[in-house]
Amino acid sequence: MLDVTLLGCGGTMPLPNRWLTSLHVLYNGRGILIDCGEGTQIAMKETGVSAHTIDLILLTHFHGDHVMGLPGILMSMGMSGRTEPVTIVGPKNLHKVVPNLCVCAGIPFEVRMVELEEADYRFDFSEGSLLHIHAFAASHSVPTYGYSLELERLRKFDPERATSNNIPVKYWGRLQRNETVKDDRTVYTPDMVLGEKRKGIKVTYVTDTRPNERIRLSSRHSDLLVLEGMYGDDERLEAAKVKRHMIFSEAAEIASEGHSKELWLTHFSPSETHPEQYLDATRKIFEHTVCGKTGLHRTLNYTDEPYIEEPQEIPSPKAVPSIEPVHESEDDGSRVELIEEW
Ligand SMILES: [Zn+2]
Ligand SMILES: [Zn+2]
Repeated sequence: MLDVTLLGCGGTMPLPNRWLTSLHVLYNGRGILIDCGEGTQIAMKETGVSAHTIDLILLTHFHGDHVMGLPGILMSMGMSGRTEPVTIVGPKNLHKVVPNLCVCAGIPFEVRMVELEEADYRFDFSEGSLLHIHAFAASHSVPTYGYSLELERLRKFDPERATSNNIPVKYWGRLQRNETVKDDRTVYTPDMVLGEKRKGIKVTYVTDTRPNERIRLSSRHSDLLVLEGMYGDDERLEAAKVKRHMIFSEAAEIASEGHSKELWLTHFSPSETHPEQYLDATRKIFEHTVCGKTGLHRTLNYTDEPYIEEPQEIPSPKAVPSIEPVHESEDDGSRVELIEEW
């Protein structure tokens, strides 16, 4: 089960009643935060999301509207008595940006950082976790990543199959957990005791980008797709292209073509004071479109729908990234980039 809460839906700057875009996902009582703009911790208080349980923070890119809330969140986590490490994942230069941003935060726990450089990166929420994370390159004015969170569902154990294959009962549990077991004479594989593959749960978050092929492929069959909708009006497409952003109809096309189940639009321009006015037109492209707002929430459970094989075009998984502790940077030249509309 994944509990997904949209903390904010604004782009560029927070507005009254519109916090900057950020998504919280709760899995097994532990939290994952995607993006952390200014005011994110206020949105967390408003929505009842706990900062204390966040183990992983995924940053799309280093424009200020996606990272400036980081010092406050980390400081609050420290003040609440947290001692366990927190891992932050983001594009190249993460090791410069985070210490610079957080120089005043006084963080009393270890901050581990994982810099992304490849166009595709896959890793697990924790060692052996069923929650697999896929970072993929977006197309913005600075290096930017989208993230898919895929919760695997274990294949059903088939005791008749295990018995007919003469599998010792003492190995059943390990085989069910997808482990291969060897004893003195025999190798037992999970296929010998498990039934068909089963559909898991997929949540994808992509903002600050033009549409690209990698986004289309990586977001396919999302149970919940959270995509940027910088502008609602198709007439603003040229402006979106210049600023490397996406409009409502483009997001809806990605959701429709990828057979996703539900689309949440987020990262509205401050000029879009009533984004819901474009919802009817957007729903003609993808019916299950929702305008983002603080507190929008879904609990996603496993279903008995058929398993869908991932398209072959998606590049094969990379190795699990190395995790290094935070360190002071001698070169303080990195800056959180400021442009007219982030
Ligand atoms: Zn932005
Ligand atoms: Zn941006």
